[in-house]
Amino acid sequence: MAQISTSAAELREVTKMERIGPHSHIQGLGLDDRLEPRSNSQGMVGQGKARKAAGMVLKMVQEGKIAGRAILFAGPPSTGKTAIALGMAQTLGQDVPFTIIAASEVFSLSMSRTEALTQALRRSIGVRIKEETEIIEGEVVEVQIDRSLTGATKTGKLTIKTTDMETIYDLGTKMIDSLSKEKVLAGDVIAIDKTSGKVTKLGRSFARSRDYDAMGADTKFVQCPEGEVQKRKEVVHTVSLHEIDVINSRTQGFLALFAGDTGEIKPELRNQIDTKVAEWREEGKAEIVPGVLFIDEVHMLDIECFSFLNRALEKELAPLVIMATNRGVSQVRGTKYSSPHGLPEDLLDRVLIVSTKEYSPSELEQIILLRAQEEDAQLGEGTLQTLASVARESNLRYALNLISTANMISKKRKSEKIEVAHVKRAYEYFLDLTRSQEWLKGQAGKLIF
Ligand code: ATP
Repeated sequence: MAQISTSAAELREVTKMERIGPHSHIQGLGLDDRLEPRSNSQGMVGQGKARKAAGMVLKMVQEGKIAGRAILFAGPPSTGKTAIALGMAQTLGQDVPFTIIAASEVFSLSMSRTEALTQALRRSIGVRIKEETEIIEGEVVEVQIDRSLTGATKTGKLTIKTTDMETIYDLGTKMIDSLSKEKVLAGDVIAIDKTSGKVTKLGRSFARSRDYDAMGADTKFVQCPEGEVQKRKEVVHTVSLHEIDVINSRTQGFLALFAGDTGEIKPELRNQIDTKVAEWREEGKAEIVPGVLFIDEVHMLDIECFSFLNRALEKELAPLVIMATNRGVSQVRGTKYSSPHGLPEDLLDRVLIVSTKEYSPSELEQIILLRAQEEDAQLGEGTLQTLASVARESNLRYALNLISTANMISKKRKSEKIEVAHVKRAYEYFLDLTRSQEWLKGQAGKLIF
């Protein structure tokens, strides 16, 4: 097994790599408190209606009102369907599971399509588990100090509450700092010199010895009262149903999660787990956090998957399912029938459809500028307009890709900015879809079809 590294340098490398992902400029949905879309905020530009609709859906998710529903983002390529879904994920926060899959991932040799979908659905349902942990007596704990202790009178009371040492440092006074280094324990006696403010720990046995006089008249003694020590602490953590499944089905437990190879999980085991979770809920030990499953290119699923999803959405434990497609009326895979967006009508019936539309020239420019900033690229005279016209004539994603490639070319030519000439060169090196199709026509008989 590879060794787990936590070295700061390596972590920085990873962060850097993530920064240049195609959606790394998206930090949320860019809505105000009334869920109105700001024109350019949190990396999001335009597409106001769809963003507002996404915000409304999120509100319902947060209020626990929308589990078991499905939403379909439908619109032309590069109109921000994935970007909006990621904006939703960012808004929901860490505790709410958000799973992203492309429909084609469901077709794999290692497991059936319905098993792959079940795993994706169960990854998207969180179980928030509340546990009480015991703080071992005598463990170092946060010192909550009456502020008057640090004031002129230098008297006060110490109570001991949590294990969080950070808080001690936050309080920031020298006295508290010295206490924390001393490791204050429940029942310890602290001596405070009234003149110098110096704090000394005398330990628990001192309380019994009652030998206070030996410390001098100017010393105030404080015993950290045992009664005020919080020996129990509530710890809340959220795991997904899928994680519980895996931990209980494999000897390698958590490792299987990281390797991604979980194999098929037996339905009986899942039933047992669902029963157990239901018990925990009744006992108040756990609550369900319905999350979100995002299925990109959903038209790639076939009829078997669609009917499975339809049924899954009716179950008690179901996440919100968000789907995205750029298809118009097309064939439902596995059938001879055509239907809007390639989805069967009984599924379409229960879905809220949100459409995304083509961007205006000014919106295209703003998105391109955001990406250029994200990639630390300066644009020279006319470059923004050139890239925007490529986005209009080809598509936005291609224009955004040209920023990275033209940036490399400009660096190679030791230019501080991406100039129009660099974009043109990148445009020659890398074909967009239309030119690639034209090129293919010219290659008839040479390539294998
Ligand atoms: P497809 O149908 O081809 O999958 P899509 O609708 O999912 O396309 P995205 O992948 O979201 O399109 O968008 C293409 C690129 O443009 C991405 O880099 C995305 O982050 C960016 N983008 C799209 N819309 C916006 C927007 N409204 N604001 C900021 N960036 C956007």
